[in-house]
Amino acid sequence: MYCKNCGKEIDDKAVICVHCGVRTGNDSASLTNTMAIIGLICAFVFAPLGLVFGILGLKFANRNGGCGKGMSIAAIALSAIFCASVLIPIIIAVIAVSLESAAATVAVSSLSVIA
Ligand SMILES: [Zn+2]
Repeated sequence: MYCKNCGKEIDDKAVICVHCGVRTGNDSASLTNTMAIIGLICAFVFAPLGLVFGILGLKFANRNGGCGKGMSIAAIALSAIFCASVLIPIIIAVIAVSLESAAATVAVSSLSVIA
């Protein structure tokens, strides 16, 4: 068979053209975006990893005719939401603690002024 993109002769069973790297269409049913699936699972288990795999899945999708693109975007979005839901309370806690210690420092220094 011939590649529909570059027109060069390639193996009949080839999944990706060895000359230009474009998918041949042989695999439309069998090709799965593993990165996107892992990303989607990781989004629920460990969000930062889901974000990484989601981005990898999106790169894979862009190289393979959009295969699993929606899933990759879902993985990135879910991971971002989960990351935010974990990070925001931590950031607020850190700010609260630092404000509290700043208030304590002010209180201590004003006490020493009085003393
Ligand atoms: Zn080609």
